[in-house]
Amino acid sequence: MNIGIIGAGATGLTAAHDLVRDGHDVTVLEGADELGGLAGSLTVQGTPLERYYHHIFETDRAFIELIDELGLSPELRFHSTTTGIFHEGALHDFSTPVDMLRFPPLTLWDRVRFGASSAALKAIRQGERLNDQRALEWVRRWAGRRAADVIWEPLLAGKFGTRAPEISMAWLWARVHFRTFKLGYLDGGFDQVYTALLRSVEDGGGKVEFGKRLSSITQPDPKGPVEVRTEDGSRYEYDKVLVTVPQPAFAQATGAPSDDVLRRNEYLGATCFVLECDRSVIPYYWLNVNDPSFPFLAVVEHTNMIPPAEYGGRHIVYVGNYVPRDDWRFTTDPAELLEQYVPWLRRLNPDFDLSWVKDWHFSRAPFAQPVVTPDYRASIPPHETSMPGVVLATMSQIYPQDRGQSYSVALARKVVQQYFR
Ligand SMILES: Cc1cc2nc3c(=O)[nH]c(=O)nc-3n(C[C@H](O)[C@H](O)[C@H](O)COP(=O)(O)OP(=O)(O)OC[C@H]3O[C@@H](n4cnc5c(N)ncnc54)[C@H](O)[C@@H]3O)c2cc1C
Repeated sequence: MNIGIIGAGATGLTAAHDLVRDGHDVTVLEGADELGGLAGSLTVQGTPLERYYHHIFETDRAFIELIDELGLSPELRFHSTTTGIFHEGALHDFSTPVDMLRFPPLTLWDRVRFGASSAALKAIRQGERLNDQRALEWVRRWAGRRAADVIWEPLLAGKFGTRAPEISMAWLWARVHFRTFKLGYLDGGFDQVYTALLRSVEDGGGKVEFGKRLSSITQPDPKGPVEVRTEDGSRYEYDKVLVTVPQPAFAQATGAPSDDVLRRNEYLGATCFVLECDRSVIPYYWLNVNDPSFPFLAVVEHTNMIPPAEYGGRHIVYVGNYVPRDDWRFTTDPAELLEQYVPWLRRLNPDFDLSWVKDWHFSRAPFAQPVVTPDYRASIPPHETSMPGVVLATMSQIYPQDRGQSYSVALARKVVQQYFR
């Protein structure tokens, strides 16, 4: 078959890799000018680095298997990293169960309840059954009001803003249940996975075309070819098409009406600074900023997991956020936004100075995080679409697991198996 794939992220590239090996003619149309989508990379001192902080968990089987298949296992290492929580002006260690049981903002009884409820989430196997419950209500009941106020609510608010009270407990269960303490990273960056997938596609006779933003998909005759048009005026015909772009981009390309299931799910955008600093800024790999007055959710010092020597001695600090697309943090000029973040970074490290930042990068993704309310599950669109030749495999179909590269790889493999073989 002559197959078109829309989107060169983890889903689209994995599917393309599998489909060329099945002997199909494959073309991937990518709107941006780089590979990897949300897991795409920039370069710091010659080393690829993800635009948004990325690591994997020991439970990310599908991605670990793909890494192995691409011959990249020697680069994969799991690290014991450190986590902190900033609460009421102070940094607290939160890396191990012992740190959690010592966490000063909670009383001993609160800590025991927090520990027991977290252990229960690890033990519960079918957390999907918690779908109809709201996460905040569940944690208030089982972890206690104080742990909910100090730990869970700021985390949910940082990720989902004003929608935090509506988030489903099935999603929070999956986040706790599938995560491991050790975090995996590929020496040299995850970009190697996407570059290896591209190489495999090209070696198999396929290709990736960049700068091809989808504008329409039609299949006038259900037995005929699928017609794809891109914003630069190109027109393509395929026997079958796999669409991996966010739901709203697909809805727009098909002209789906406003009450269509494709229009129902909502997404937040993500913004992220990569600060290349001449020294360390925080004493952790991951710092949750549990203070709703802050304009950002997390600070991740990547070089507290991977040595700065990998990046020419630079200390890599991510400052990240999930926000609506009309929020000032999404729309403000990045240089101005960085200036506005400085006083807040100084609250985390009073010595912090902009002169420490030798270079910086800013990325913005409009559709980065679906808003996973209890109604969400019923709004997930099927892989089959109104056109028999068009299959949809997109991040919003991953639920209740939090999105992640491994789930995208598994999704790609599932739809290839189910609809293209
Ligand atoms: C801040 C942040 C942190 C994350 N951290 C982690 C982590 O630590 N570990 C982990 O495993 N995962 C993490 N993820 C999630 C991970 O990046 C995603 O789950 C995964 O990359 C999604 O891949 P995808 O192919 O499904 O979608 P995408 O990456 O969104 O790929 C879709 C592709 O389609 C393209 N596209 C979009 N619109 C159009 C259009 N109209 N026409 C043509 N092309 C288009 C995009 O440019 C993109 O390349 C994180 C994500 C974010 C935002």
